Amino acid sequence: MAYEIIRISDRTWRIEDSGVRIFLLTGDDKALMIDSGMTLPNAAEIVRGLTDLPVELLNTHADRDHVSGNKAFESFYMSPAEEPNYRSAGGMGTIIPVAQGDTIDLGGRVLEIVDLPGHTPGSIAVLDPECRALISGDPIQDGRIFMFGKYRNMRSYVESLKALSEFDGRYDEIWPSHGSFPVDPSIIPELLEAAEKIVEGKADGKKVEFMGNSITEYDMGVAVFLCD
Ligand SMILES: [Zn+2]
Repeated sequence: MAYEIIRISDRTWRIEDSGVRIFLLTGDDKALMIDSGMTLPNAAEIVRGLTDLPVELLNTHADRDHVSGNKAFESFYMSPAEEPNYRSAGGMGTIIPVAQGDTIDLGGRVLEIVDLPGHTPGSIAVLDPECRALISGDPIQDGRIFMFGKYRNMRSYVESLKALSEFDGRYDEIWPSHGSFPVDPSIIPELLEAAEKIVEGKADGKKVEFMGNSITEYDMGVAVFLCD
């Protein structure tokens, strides 16, 4: 299993795992691992090699490429709206529910939860004031955004991107789970415009077979949306 650890700052790392990212943020008292990867059941061991602090886990959402190492944790932060998605794939453990307005204090580093439903019902992002970064999960990125199948909702995705304007000016970079790293916040209005076009039926889609599904692919330049 190939993975790569990349240091972002003295208290921040990203782990690249086969096209998906894990983040590790440390404070004075504890550390937070954000997502547990696609192919890394030993993700917890890997991050414990980077910090001696107690490590907690948060999942941006429960798609299987983000939860491979969850078993090492008895409990983890996750939106309660994600529970059906998580349990239907056999996910174990106790969900500590979080929602927008909640904070996680690592000691001298207070992270804020931001709701971003649409890609999944309980997709969340984490705002890190120390790095002035929005750790966005899957909804905000320049790669392929999965919007087909159960649990996806394009209209709610559009509303989430609009609501993000509340946080304007509080971060300089977006750190997504897939695609380029980092991404400029100017991607948000571009994704919003693209998503609205798709919802309004004004985008050109192409029918394709993808992972055993018949889907419609919209290459919108800014990102590729894979829809029903
Ligand atoms: Zn993903």
